[in-house]
Amino acid sequence: MGHQSEYFSSSYQEARSRFLKAASHAGFTVASYQHPLPGYDGQAIFTDIASKIPGNAKHIVMTTSGIHGVEGFAGSAAQIQALKTADKPNDVGIIHVHALNPHGFDFGRRVNEHNIDLSRNFIDWSAPLPEDHSLNAAVQSTLKTKPGLWQQARIALLMARHGMGTAKDALTRGQYSDPSGLYFGGTGPAWSNLLWHQIVARVTAQTPHLTHIDFHTGLGPYGKGEMIMMADRHSPMFHRAESLWDNVTTPQDGSSSTSLITGSMCNAFNRTAARRTIVTTGALEFGTLPPLDVLKALATDHHAYLTMPAAEARKVAWQAMQNAFNPPDSIWQVVILDQSQRALHRALMLKP
Ligand SMILES: [Zn+2]
Repeated sequence: MGHQSEYFSSSYQEARSRFLKAASHAGFTVASYQHPLPGYDGQAIFTDIASKIPGNAKHIVMTTSGIHGVEGFAGSAAQIQALKTADKPNDVGIIHVHALNPHGFDFGRRVNEHNIDLSRNFIDWSAPLPEDHSLNAAVQSTLKTKPGLWQQARIALLMARHGMGTAKDALTRGQYSDPSGLYFGGTGPAWSNLLWHQIVARVTAQTPHLTHIDFHTGLGPYGKGEMIMMADRHSPMFHRAESLWDNVTTPQDGSSSTSLITGSMCNAFNRTAARRTIVTTGALEFGTLPPLDVLKALATDHHAYLTMPAAEARKVAWQAMQNAFNPPDSIWQVVILDQSQRALHRALMLKP
């Protein structure tokens, strides 16, 4: 123990400066993309991409952090650790995409600047919108009430009436009708979405094999890593993932702690990746608090930003969101770093 505090930062700006420093130290090239809005203290915010790709690379390993803003604290720590301990085979390229949702990261929120859950934003915007779950309106109105005993009673009633699994599906699947609700997918491709499509197109044009790990927190047992594949258990991608990683799951057969969702970022690979590139993409999800406690934090954050100016809301919701998505616990941090490093090392070992 001891090193984890060098990797886990206490703010987005600190995470960014550590990431940039570690990248330049390790001889990576950095490209920075400034977000259209400033952060909470008026400073510019960025998605930064650090890469080191040898000319003969047959395989590229890519990581992304912070598509869900606040979850970027853990993802950023894993990336900084990877940069500081960079061993890799000579014919493998590495790319770390830091803070894909820098606005959410800086504000300590899961959503972006328009209340969009970016993992629900990667739908086909030229097709009709996905339909909401039939319970969506009931769930949303419950979660928009002021957090407290009355809200908890309403949540308990919903779960008693419909079952926890159904209530969770209704909430987390993604919805496109209520811009002020939770798990809102947006009204068009968000800034991070457009940037991610550009990255995917460029990276896959450079390599026949891409292995991608997207870091998340907030689902599953405390400290436990789960590699979630948005793929059929019998697909070649799932088999490749199983040959690399432990605890590989898919929501398609109920083995995952996540529900089936619409519009996850792996859709970008289906649409934009160069045809000949074989892509293996998984979300490495680390458990934090029990589901109802995570939901309570999300409801606190949501209610604060619905009813207060952002600067005030950030003060009210910050600690609850940290506890739920970046637990202040050095043992949790060590365990997350250890599993992240192992997942990355296994990805580097893939022999195309
Ligand atoms: Zn997430």
